Amino acid sequence: MERIDLHTHSHHSDGTQSVYALVREAAQEGLTAIALTDHDTTDGWDEAREAAGMDGIAVIPGIEVTCQRGEVSVHILAYLVNPSPTTRLARMIASTRDARDMRARRIVERLSADYPITWEDVAAQVAGEDTVVGRPHIADALVAAGVLQNRSQAFESILAKGSPYYIPTSSMDPLEAIAAIHEAGGVSVVAHGLAKTRRGSLSLDEIEELCAAGLDGLEVAHREHDSVSRTRLAALATAYDAVITGGSDYHGAGKPNRLGENTTAPAQFRALHERALSEVEVFGT
Ligand code: AMP
Ligand code: ZN
Ligand code: FE
Ligand code: FE
Repeated sequence: MERIDLHTHSHHSDGTQSVYALVREAAQEGLTAIALTDHDTTDGWDEAREAAGMDGIAVIPGIEVTCQRGEVSVHILAYLVNPSPTTRLARMIASTRDARDMRARRIVERLSADYPITWEDVAAQVAGEDTVVGRPHIADALVAAGVLQNRSQAFESILAKGSPYYIPTSSMDPLEAIAAIHEAGGVSVVAHGLAKTRRGSLSLDEIEELCAAGLDGLEVAHREHDSVSRTRLAALATAYDAVITGGSDYHGAGKPNRLGENTTAPAQFRALHERALSEVEVFGT
């Protein structure tokens, strides 16, 4: 039986483990395929290509693209895009990475007025040179300094939206992301579109606008969606002939989410795969 988790993170962004470890764990959890969807980077794809096939696990190359609509942060999952650095998508996520870096430094500057934390402390928590920095790494530095117990506590307090230390990442509108993903031959899926624990998500009408613009799918099965949200999103997907997906949004030890806690039906994944136009194939198959 196929079990496919379409949303995971490694230490190429804010997950806590390597892609190898992720693949090994996927096998232990009885999965058959995972998508690697690190924030705003394809840096983990080479490792994914090597690790795929181990224990029979297929890896679908992906990106979780940070977008912004006004004050609201929107995440679009991109799968099977051409990873060439010359695409519009690649240029857009490169500038988001720069914006993330600048914003993280500014958050740390604000924090340093009240807490024992420097940019060097944050840098020490980041796995590699090309790792995409986010609030989780700042949380890790605060944990290392003994200010907090874990990432979740940081996200509920000093790093939460609405905290005086919080600064958003400036990035593209979701409509631009969808167009750029299509231009790169890939498929686009709105991640946790109606997440209730994130302050500020798009309205259902705004998500419908993305569907009308050619969005390929909606992530329905996600731990931050209650049954009402799932029903609404599934109905929207059906109305627009979009694919219904599910994923764990696994971050290793950094978040309570368990790998494989939400999955995508094999037929839905095949429908998504068929919509991709690039030459990029699933790794390890
Ligand atoms: P940022 O992208 O820098 O604004 O940070 C937000 C990201 O932190 C989200 O996309 C989550 O993927 C991630 N994250 C990791 N661990 C946690 C946690 N314990 N609570 C909330 N978000 C988390
Ligand atoms: Zn994350
Ligand atoms: Fe997300
Ligand atoms: Fe995610």
